[in-house]
Amino acid sequence: PKCFPPRKFCLRKVAGELGEKECPDGFRVLINNGVDGCQSVYHLHLHVMGGEVLPDTGDLVKPPEDPNEGTIFSKIVAGDIPSTEVYSDDSVYGFKDIAPMAAFHHVFIPKEKNGLSQLRKATDSQKKLLGHILRSAAQNGLKQCPKGFRIFINDGYNAGQTVYHLHMHMVGGEQLALTRVNGADIAD
Ligand code: AMP
Repeated sequence: PKCFPPRKFCLRKVAGELGEKECPDGFRVLINNGVDGCQSVYHLHLHVMGGEVLPDTGDLVKPPEDPNEGTIFSKIVAGDIPSTEVYSDDSVYGFKDIAPMAAFHHVFIPKEKNGLSQLRKATDSQKKLLGHILRSAAQNGLKQCPKGFRIFINDGYNAGQTVYHLHMHMVGGEQLALTRVNGADIAD
């Protein structure tokens, strides 16, 4: 795992550097917040991990050839499939995850997919949107999980991404377990 402090705190750059070059088969970006999120260093930072099938993955699903292919999340945004809204504005939709991993588990997505099937696909012109999704998820976390939460993004097969419409998970509402990769704790 690698750790990116704010000087390099750019989701677009991190995804480009690691996703496309170092972990082409998939990676996870993770941000721990507060006690329940296992944060120990209070200087905002991103963890990036990959290079193997990561823990807590469900089904392993290969990315589609066409990044604009519709997914279940397009149907959710269109209202064709029901969801429980937790946040909505012009560009971002947040809803309850159907299979929660913690007391609170919300998913935040761009309403317009625009090629954003995976984090690594983000272009420089989408940097602001990425930041906005992240902040929407963090504000929701602060409100619902004042003792801490974790935000993570699965990108690709090795990370267990199953829905190829970029999304950020917000989990919290209880003491979360440490994330372990190769026996090493990711605890800060
Ligand atoms: P990922 O594994 O990162 O692709 O995450 C996809 C997430 O979407 C999983 O946590 C699923 O439980 C969740 N999910 C799939 N279908 C639905 C649905 N219809 N409503 C809410 N969440 C869903």
